[in-house]
Amino acid sequence: MSRIVIIGGGPAGYEAALVAAQLDADVTVIESEGAGGACVLHDCVPSKTFIASSDVVTAYRDTEEFGVNSGGLSAVRVDAGAVHRRVKRLAQAQSMDIQAKLIKAGVTVIAGTARLGEDTLGHTHRLMVNPAGGDAPYTIDASTILIATGATPRLLPDAQPDGERILTWRQIYDLPELPEHLIVVGSGVTGAEFASAYLAMGIGVTLVSSRDRVMPHEDADAAMAIEQVFRARGMTILANARAAVVRRAGDGVEVELTDGQIVPGSHALIAVGSVPNTSGLGLSEYGVSVAASGHVTVDRVSRTNVPGIYAAGDCTGVLPLASVAAMQGRIAMWHSLGEAVAPLRLRTVAANVFTDPELATVGTSQSDVDSGKVPARQVMLPLAGNARAKMAGLRDGFVKLFCRPASGLVVGGVIVAPKASELILPISLAIENHLTVDQVAHTITIYPSLSGSVAEAARQLMLHETG
Ligand SMILES: Cc1cc2nc3c(=O)[nH]c(=O)nc-3n(C[C@H](O)[C@H](O)[C@H](O)COP(=O)(O)OP(=O)(O)OC[C@H]3O[C@@H](n4cnc5c(N)ncnc54)[C@H](O)[C@@H]3O)c2cc1C
Repeated sequence: MSRIVIIGGGPAGYEAALVAAQLDADVTVIESEGAGGACVLHDCVPSKTFIASSDVVTAYRDTEEFGVNSGGLSAVRVDAGAVHRRVKRLAQAQSMDIQAKLIKAGVTVIAGTARLGEDTLGHTHRLMVNPAGGDAPYTIDASTILIATGATPRLLPDAQPDGERILTWRQIYDLPELPEHLIVVGSGVTGAEFASAYLAMGIGVTLVSSRDRVMPHEDADAAMAIEQVFRARGMTILANARAAVVRRAGDGVEVELTDGQIVPGSHALIAVGSVPNTSGLGLSEYGVSVAASGHVTVDRVSRTNVPGIYAAGDCTGVLPLASVAAMQGRIAMWHSLGEAVAPLRLRTVAANVFTDPELATVGTSQSDVDSGKVPARQVMLPLAGNARAKMAGLRDGFVKLFCRPASGLVVGGVIVAPKASELILPISLAIENHLTVDQVAHTITIYPSLSGSVAEAARQLMLHETG
């Protein structure tokens, strides 16, 4: 029987373990924090739960327009303690669910840390395990190892988090009160999501963006639309601004920018990306290739350069999404256990930014089209023209669709809308199943519905084709 040892129990690790157990392998997961890993305990699950509370506040915005007198946003009070307790409770419960699922599948779960040991036994690898709780370290041998150790918030040398006023996104749920004025350093996806959620909760937010717009790696039209919403709701966005130092000042904090400007606030959230958890694993001593960024180098079936050692998830830097981590982990197991497996395909990976409104993307991007990498025709339909959007008072957002110039095959899409994460699926399905804009356009959608705009966009591309 193959003995598989997985270091890290996040989506990459636990999904891999479930696949390997299903294929009757002897599987052990060694995880330092708890089943579900950082995804469930610190990052994705807590942030989306926090955002769910901010969505409740958002529902009270502009109620008078609908003839509902609720007292408006100013009457809403957010109980930070209750919100944070709910976040932690849900994360813990999710972790326990995953732990129970692993045990039921026959996976051995060890609480502790592991590193590569020595390659002493021919085709067998040896790991050093440091169990939690102070028991003596020991070794385990494995025919296959999966490194799934994830990533940790990146820190700036002159912005050390203290857990009270200067915070990483993993520390905000320990605050007794919401900040009065939060400075978010970093306007990537994580910075934008938290800036959006705090703004919705009625907190003053200053977003420090090192580029000329927020979310510089996302579709420019979408990022601009969301930036406009942020500004209209009162967020201060400092563009082309780099934080040099973040320090405590009196009862609050101040962020000193590289141009010398001082930005005062009550709290600062540092959201400047993540670094892979790959130091201390003994990778280079073992001969496993690691990029200059610290990410483990893998191919599309999650193999490293060392036979029998695979890596998956955020420690590989392929695409930092839970869905991709899980698929990389599963592929690693299918491959190592001799199952037929298709290499990882990123073409139909949908991604969502959970701002208000949300931003969902899939497939070919505007920059692919603009650079000539993918020849495509496109249409962008503002949601303001959609009947359901009008009824719901939605003025911001759009559906953008890309298709091949001659065949009309759908190749990509961008949606900015509330719950764009749910609306992107028809475009993903179209790409995955090689549907044309004609086929999408002939699908009868519910009237009135926001998804009607997806079919309408397809119809416009049809018209364009024949016109
Ligand atoms: C704020 C935030 C929000 C996010 N929201 C989303 C989202 O909405 N949707 C989405 O798809 N993705 C989201 N992501 C990304 C997602 O969280 C990651 O892609 C996902 O966690 C990667 O899973 P993983 O298994 O690679 O690693 P992780 O989830 O990081 O798990 C790795 C685990 O390995 C453990 N570990 C590390 N070293 C060792 C060792 N030596 N021994 C034992 N254990 C070890 C770590 O403690 C950790 O628990 C978000 C990320 C952040 C930061």
